Amino acid sequence: MEYTRLFALKLLQSEGRALERLYSNADTVRRKKMGDDVFIRGIVEFSNVCSNNCLYCGIRASNRNVRRYSMTTEEIMEAAIAMEENNFSTIVLQSGEIRDIKDDEIGEIIRKIKKKTSLAVTVSVGNRRKETYSFWRDCGMDRYFLRFETSDAELFNRLHPGCTLKERLTCLDDLHDLEIQTGSGFMIGLPGEKLETLADNILLCRKFDFDMIGIGPFIPHPETPLGNSPNAYSDNPELFFKALAVLRLFNPEAHIPATTAFDAVFPGEGRTLALQRGANIFMPNNTPVKYREDYLLYPGKPGVDEDPEQCLSSAVVRIKSLGRPLGKGPGHSIKKRHREKRSRE
Ligand code: SAM
Repeated sequence: MEYTRLFALKLLQSEGRALERLYSNADTVRRKKMGDDVFIRGIVEFSNVCSNNCLYCGIRASNRNVRRYSMTTEEIMEAAIAMEENNFSTIVLQSGEIRDIKDDEIGEIIRKIKKKTSLAVTVSVGNRRKETYSFWRDCGMDRYFLRFETSDAELFNRLHPGCTLKERLTCLDDLHDLEIQTGSGFMIGLPGEKLETLADNILLCRKFDFDMIGIGPFIPHPETPLGNSPNAYSDNPELFFKALAVLRLFNPEAHIPATTAFDAVFPGEGRTLALQRGANIFMPNNTPVKYREDYLLYPGKPGVDEDPEQCLSSAVVRIKSLGRPLGKGPGHSIKKRHREKRSRE
């Protein structure tokens, strides 16, 4: 297998029999390397307060129509304890990029969750200093999730006022240096994206050797500057799945979630199809229902009125309908560097 841009481009243009082969190869590689288990990770969107103004994002600082919220530590703990009772093994704590929340406060939340539950903790709160990542790791953080969004530096810099792709990639290097299990990824079809960019996004994931890679279609949010900019592949949404399948072939040992945005574009089946085309992780929403509508990164986000139990049971139904078992245990990275670290501990 050649891991080149040219080959990625060729695969991304598969049609007919070649496309069927691409999907079936991605599913085979997923089964061989990651097994049939589907790991469940529960996401808690604990605050929609954000200091950034990413041009695509519904919770950007300038969107005055968003009712801002931040869950209290008690509310976060309540969600974490309920997750443990429901047999979750990972909590993903996600929020906007809130400069006001002190590193210590997040550190304290991580410590409390680690003390009161056996959950693995993933944090996803944007660009931070290396010292902060290191401090959170010492508090018990297991993993960090930070998408690079696009490998096209000019496009990245245009979409992220006050932030450059170089800075984002430095954060990812820092996490790698600290031996924190690192997840990253990108949006598929940002306005201005070319197929070459999509191929480069996949290659960049391989270069960084991420432990987890989350990708999903860009969906225009009407209250953002990109509200009238259609997805670059709006006339060819099959490309969303092609991207996922090629991503799996180029990153055989990464955890790859079937992200919610797939369901927003293909209601009721997007995530199920993603699980059949390379994905091995499902992330039901565990944010309390009263906050769901206020964390709308894009319109049509599914499950906004489902409580955490409903989100979990519909995930289980989908996974079982594919004849796949639920993963047991934390589902940590299977990459060699982490296996070696765990055996040292
Ligand atoms: N602030 C943290 C960060 O930037 O990593 C985490 C929260 S951020 C809102 C989570 C992800 O939502 C982003 O990485 C981005 O890929 C995705 N997202 C935001 N707006 C989107 C849109 N309009 N369509 C699809 N995905 C979107």
